[in-house]
Amino acid sequence: MRKILLTILLLLTVFLSEAKEIAITFDDSPRSASGYFDGPTRAKKLVAELKEHNVEQVAFFSVSKRLDAEGIERLNTYSEAGHIISNHTHSHPDFNQLSLQDYSKDFLLADVKLQQFNNFRKLFRFPYLREGNTAEKRDGMRKLLNKHGYKNAYITLNNYDWYIESLFQNAVKEGHDIDMEKMSQFYVQLLIESIEYYDEMAQEHLGRSPKHVLLLHEMDISALFIGDLVKELRIRGWNIITPDEAYSDDIAKYKVDRVLKFNPGRIGEIALVNGQRKGLWHKNLDERYLEKLFMQQVINH
Ligand SMILES: [Zn+2]
Repeated sequence: MRKILLTILLLLTVFLSEAKEIAITFDDSPRSASGYFDGPTRAKKLVAELKEHNVEQVAFFSVSKRLDAEGIERLNTYSEAGHIISNHTHSHPDFNQLSLQDYSKDFLLADVKLQQFNNFRKLFRFPYLREGNTAEKRDGMRKLLNKHGYKNAYITLNNYDWYIESLFQNAVKEGHDIDMEKMSQFYVQLLIESIEYYDEMAQEHLGRSPKHVLLLHEMDISALFIGDLVKELRIRGWNIITPDEAYSDDIAKYKVDRVLKFNPGRIGEIALVNGQRKGLWHKNLDERYLEKLFMQQVINH
């Protein structure tokens, strides 16, 4: 009886406190697929998982250089399922290594090539989140985005899901018999930890929980476990919102004055300007740490 009362109390607390909000985005589509799934299978599985878990709309930040016939087919699978296709440049360059002129060209080429998709939306995600390592480059891109009617599709929730994918694919290649239950738990746990970390950081610096944007990548583990992640988020009181809703938050207007060579995401930018020096990148954003944990929890469990 006492246990039931406690459960009701816990559920009430979750429902009465304002729900936290999160939009889901996938970068680098159509990302290479030569392991667990082939590309079209990945796309279909991902769309089916999102539908099954009532996720109405996510965004795919796409790299137009990868638009061969299969790439186009995959992006059409996403677009036709109601998801957004947006700009992530033509060739995924590192802005720290490129002039403003060359970078602008790469951005504009993707703008032309990605317009073929029905659900194309003028949102731009900077590769590696690098927005310009000089004031001239940063301001030049801000102007160009404005001129072409684009919004900067910043992220608030950073993680190394791409490294978890490479650990998974290597283990598959090496012939390990992977316990998919364990793999899912590993993925969900690591993502939840970084999501809650950045939300706490946001609450500390903004005094509220903003509409969040989760950075993920278009990969096999995303297709396999996005449903499990969504389930866990909802249990913890999160509402899944669309990217458009997320970018209606006031933090979308925030423009950091400082020139940043490396960018931790919007919450990290705000925290940095507010005087926070440590912990702008969560501890799970560490390849060696992830590898050690993967060996312990998935391979040698
Ligand atoms: Zn990328």
